Amino acid sequence: MINLKGITKVYGKGNHAATALSGLNLSIEKGEIFGVIGHSGAGKSTLIRCINLLERPTEGEVWVDGIELTKLTQGQLQEQRRKIGMIFQHFNLLSSATVYDNIAFPLRLIGTSRADIDTKVKDLLALVGLEEHRDKYPSQLSGGQKQRVGIARALASDPDVLLCDEATSALDPQTTDSILKLLLDINKRFHLTIVLITHEMHVIQSICDRVAVIHGGGIVEQGKVTEVFLKP
Ligand code: ADP
Ligand code: ADP
Repeated sequence: MINLKGITKVYGKGNHAATALSGLNLSIEKGEIFGVIGHSGAGKSTLIRCINLLERPTEGEVWVDGIELTKLTQGQLQEQRRKIGMIFQHFNLLSSATVYDNIAFPLRLIGTSRADIDTKVKDLLALVGLEEHRDKYPSQLSGGQKQRVGIARALASDPDVLLCDEATSALDPQTTDSILKLLLDINKRFHLTIVLITHEMHVIQSICDRVAVIHGGGIVEQGKVTEVFLKP
């Protein structure tokens, strides 16, 4: 489903150049929940952003669903990106838009009809359990509720892949567990491939099928979670 081949990412130039990833290879299967764990500065954020080319690798190939994204024109890439949803540590919601409008936003961008948007947004509100909160603004929501909006928005374009960039790192343990449970439900229900990066072992152990450990911009170990880490 996702193949990263020889990915190198260097930020900056000359004396200021910083190598975040060096010759990294990674293969993620359709329908699995794949976790990448590592310390701060290991390259996790760069890695996950390279999957949808939010960061463009300096070298290497990114393949998603049989298509080499690194070869596409900007227009073709926009099209392919609809298949890849993303959620963030700090949610990245539009603060001046309601819950409903935040979720509708990506659909309006691609010109979906008003009636289709309404049906879709209502389904998504039900999926994430926020029907009662549809007219609220992000500032009126808890962290967990904000992330539920983030998840609903990410799913609006019916993606095949969901990228989670430290998606539970700003949440308390109980809220983290409820978000992880939601991600697991979504993975099972839609056969959605989920890639998550985290510095928290608990997140990996509670929902991931496989895990890669990243250190210094390279994968140092990977395999089934039960094999790489002993269960607590
Ligand atoms: P992590 O997510 O594991 O904390 P990052 O991918 O954010 O790691 O960072 C990996 C390395 O790349 C770090 O040394 C970081 O300082 C550097 N880095 C990340 N983003 C940039 C950037 N935009 N410009 C320069 N260096 C960066
Ligand atoms: P997060 O992982 O939540 O996005 P980070 O602190 O890793 O937060 O990075 C925040 C932003 O700063 C990102 O866009 C990242 O690419 C950039 N960044 C990270 N490290 C550096 C760095 N050393 N120099 C410049 N920009 C950086």
